[in-house]
Amino acid sequence: MILIDGKKTSAEVKAEIKKDVEAFVEQGGKIPHLAAILVGNDGASETYVASKVRSCNEVGFNSTLERMPSKTTEEELLLKINEFNNNDDIDGFIVQLPLPKHIDEQKVTTAILPQKDVDGFHPVNVGRMALGQPAYISATPYGIVQMLEKYNIDTTGKHCVVIGRSNIVGSPMSILMAKNTKHANCTVTLTHSRTQNLEEFTKSADIVIVALGNPAFLTGEMIKEGAIVIDVGITRVPDDSKKSGFRIQGDAEFDSCAEKASYITPVPGGVGLMTVASLMKNTLAAAKKEIYS
Ligand code: NAD
Repeated sequence: MILIDGKKTSAEVKAEIKKDVEAFVEQGGKIPHLAAILVGNDGASETYVASKVRSCNEVGFNSTLERMPSKTTEEELLLKINEFNNNDDIDGFIVQLPLPKHIDEQKVTTAILPQKDVDGFHPVNVGRMALGQPAYISATPYGIVQMLEKYNIDTTGKHCVVIGRSNIVGSPMSILMAKNTKHANCTVTLTHSRTQNLEEFTKSADIVIVALGNPAFLTGEMIKEGAIVIDVGITRVPDDSKKSGFRIQGDAEFDSCAEKASYITPVPGGVGLMTVASLMKNTLAAAKKEIYS
């Protein structure tokens, strides 16, 4: 079994970005600038945003963190988005999800200019990605594709089962894995909460990408010998032995899956770190105007 090391892989990607930024700035390009809007003070969101800001520093980007209180109205948030859309110094920005219930996430996602939507959630970017046109690809699926690439995993003609059909992970992942590109070209089955006999699919899968938010859901019994397991899940599970009172648990039961898998991503230390590295990649592309000129 080979452990797909997200820490090592994301460090490699970030080192490449840092070098690229230095060369870009030396040639007169501007320092890439990523901004993040955080509404409220959800613990997990705080952690994600902090890690994004830290990564900006690591790769030599400028960053802005705009904190807004949880009682922020939808209109106030849309005004802030409009301000960032019109701020030429900001190359790309994200609105950290989830948002408080009184704010319509779809409205917010659509309000961000596609040219600055480095999270790749805007319908224009999703559509362009689906059509194989230049687009910001949603950071988590993009990170997974890069992991497969870095480990030179042959995926052509393989059966890939994706568990979960969310707009930010499962659905775009299923589209990317079916594309006629290197490290994709799979026969894809997209499964979800209404899928019957899920095990029938997972047992025949060469690659299982599990993204449903249900800790230790995928067990070794559900996969075949030699399968590749990509675990996207991140759930805080109460754990008194930890100072924080919780530990991070993936959607795969690591030990039983690792016994049978040929490759597996750990949680933490897997997909999550690559998600942040991919956001940096999208931001650099935004600063260099590689996707939209
Ligand atoms: P979501 O809640 O939006 O979607 C969950 C999906 O799982 C749904 O499509 C649902 O149909 C499916 N599902 C639920 N029960 C199922 C079952 N029994 N069998 C099959 N499918 C089932 O989730 P999301 O936003 O895609 O996130 C999923 C997990 O990934 C969460 O733990 C989240 O924290 C994590 N996540 C991690 C990263 C990362 O960078 N590693 C990024 C985004 C999300």
